[in-house]
Amino acid sequence: MHIHTLIIGAGPGGLACAKILAEQGVETLVLERKKRIGPKVCAGGITWSGLIKRVPEKLAEKSFPEQYISTPWQKIRIQEKEPIIATINRETLGHHMAEQALNAGAQIRTGVIVRKIDDGAVLVQNKNNNSQETISFDYLVGADGSSSLVRRSLGLASERLGIGINYQVPGDIKQMEWHLDSHLFANGYAWIFPHKKAVSIGAYADKRAMGPGNLKKNLINWADRQGFNLKKHSAKAEYINYDFQGWNFGRTFLVGDAAGLASGLTGEGIYPAIISAEHVAQTIIAPEYSGKAMETLIRNHDKHSRMVTLTGKNRFLNSILAELVTLGLRSGMIKFNKLEMAV
Ligand SMILES: Cc1cc2nc3c(=O)[nH]c(=O)nc-3n(C[C@H](O)[C@H](O)[C@H](O)COP(=O)(O)OP(=O)(O)OC[C@H]3O[C@@H](n4cnc5c(N)ncnc54)[C@H](O)[C@@H]3O)c2cc1C
Repeated sequence: MHIHTLIIGAGPGGLACAKILAEQGVETLVLERKKRIGPKVCAGGITWSGLIKRVPEKLAEKSFPEQYISTPWQKIRIQEKEPIIATINRETLGHHMAEQALNAGAQIRTGVIVRKIDDGAVLVQNKNNNSQETISFDYLVGADGSSSLVRRSLGLASERLGIGINYQVPGDIKQMEWHLDSHLFANGYAWIFPHKKAVSIGAYADKRAMGPGNLKKNLINWADRQGFNLKKHSAKAEYINYDFQGWNFGRTFLVGDAAGLASGLTGEGIYPAIISAEHVAQTIIAPEYSGKAMETLIRNHDKHSRMVTLTGKNRFLNSILAELVTLGLRSGMIKFNKLEMAV
């Protein structure tokens, strides 16, 4: 089989890319190894200034004009007129985006894993009946997340990684909270993100600053003090790739986590996945495409990466920075959305 554009991965990146290509009449096939589209280890936070323009508001589970931020020295509440962040169920987002891509004319196959990439073709294994197939392509889009096979086939390493650990706990919680404490979470943070009938409790840190074992142990102890017994629930963890080394490799493109475009500072990755995917789709349609979205995204990504490098393993610098940023938010000198990838 031959296809014009083959996209590996039906996460937000792959589906956003498929929709735009198919809308322009480009023959597009998305291959997804999971049998269901959507489920993903994620806190489900979507930013109002960036993502809500692309995701219908009615899909959001809860939205928050107030944010609560704690450090060892400060506890603050910031409030804006509009929600700052909303939460969404990743399966709901996946269904919505898949429907849009299918309606535009893209093909999506689930339960199929790409095993090998050779010059101009991929070897695909169908997990349902174990059959194998070779699919050749004109263009290949790697939207296959942080452990991307497409990225590895290009010879790119992924050294700069964040670790995200998430627990989904039943309950109806009202406040969205961020907890910065360099002794517990190094240059990352812990979160409490309420959903409709559950709450996402988790922690993010740069892998070089804290290993997964310590991050999980500190998260469990910290959550216990917040009144959540995480030992009763199972943790899900994944790496978040922020090792960006390019997106355009001739006939092969990388988007989202595969490109290393998630934020190294916060782990925010849905917005970068969608924006980079839209830009790649436009580039495939018209190679001279000169939209500025990718440029802005890369600039913000770079800013976030520099802050991670600056704080690195230096707990003292971490603490100072966390206190200064919180002070800035409290006084209004720093707007919360300045920490997002969209602004
Ligand atoms: C604990 C945690 C919390 C997070 N919280 C947030 C948050 O609140 N907000 C936010 O914006 N971001 C968050 N992120 C990051 C966000 O989930 C990712 O950045 C985002 O999903 C990246 O989208 P993507 O499309 O690039 O990749 P993914 O969503 O990872 O999609 C990649 C897809 O490719 C498929 N795939 C991989 N390999 C193959 C193969 N060989 N063949 C076929 N299919 C394949 C996978 O099954 C997957 O469906 C979080 C991440 C973690 C780990």
